[in-house]
Amino acid sequence: MTIQHHLTDELLMGYAAGTLPEAFNLVVATHLSLCDECRARAEAFDALGGSLLGAMETADLAEDSLQATLRRIAAGPQTARPQDRPRTRKPGELFPAPLQDYVGGDLAAVRWRPVGMGVRQAILRSGPGATARLLYIPAGSAVPDHSHRGRELTLVLQGAFQDEDGRFGPGDIEIADQAVQHTPTAEPGQPCICLAATDAPLRFRSLIPRLAQPFFRI
Ligand SMILES: [Zn+2]
Repeated sequence: MTIQHHLTDELLMGYAAGTLPEAFNLVVATHLSLCDECRARAEAFDALGGSLLGAMETADLAEDSLQATLRRIAAGPQTARPQDRPRTRKPGELFPAPLQDYVGGDLAAVRWRPVGMGVRQAILRSGPGATARLLYIPAGSAVPDHSHRGRELTLVLQGAFQDEDGRFGPGDIEIADQAVQHTPTAEPGQPCICLAATDAPLRFRSLIPRLAQPFFRI
């Protein structure tokens, strides 16, 4: 697995400090279990938090948000964090360990609901502030054109999709915000399965998906 799109420092710091919503923690932990590079960066943030904070305090700086974040990192996670260490997947398994723990099994345990045009989703239980879902996009199909009121993290588990920001394959994470208007399209060959978390409802452009939104919680 060659991962091209990684987590930002901001997300890794939030994860280390325990300030992300649970749904974002799940996506971050799932990427970390697939990505040696980001896992090394996450461990560096865990280790650096305390020493940076110590250095800043001897400089007698005013309390600011960076210092507050470092203080939280030094204190350890405030919220329950999913297990982000890699665990050997059995042959044929798709979901990394943090996701299996959430779903209570692998792909076969997912209860999909259709959201139109062959696209299916399964909302996962997650705490307040953000929603986590699994998305199933048939090969060659597009997710309806949408933008965001908040942030959306999308982690590819199987297959690949392309949108205005590039190509995203297994292990890649796309970080979209309010500025992004995108139409992810699954590549031909096999269905694309993603784990996504949003901290605000998606905003679809066409009328029908908008009417359906309250029913499907998308
Ligand atoms: Zn990474």
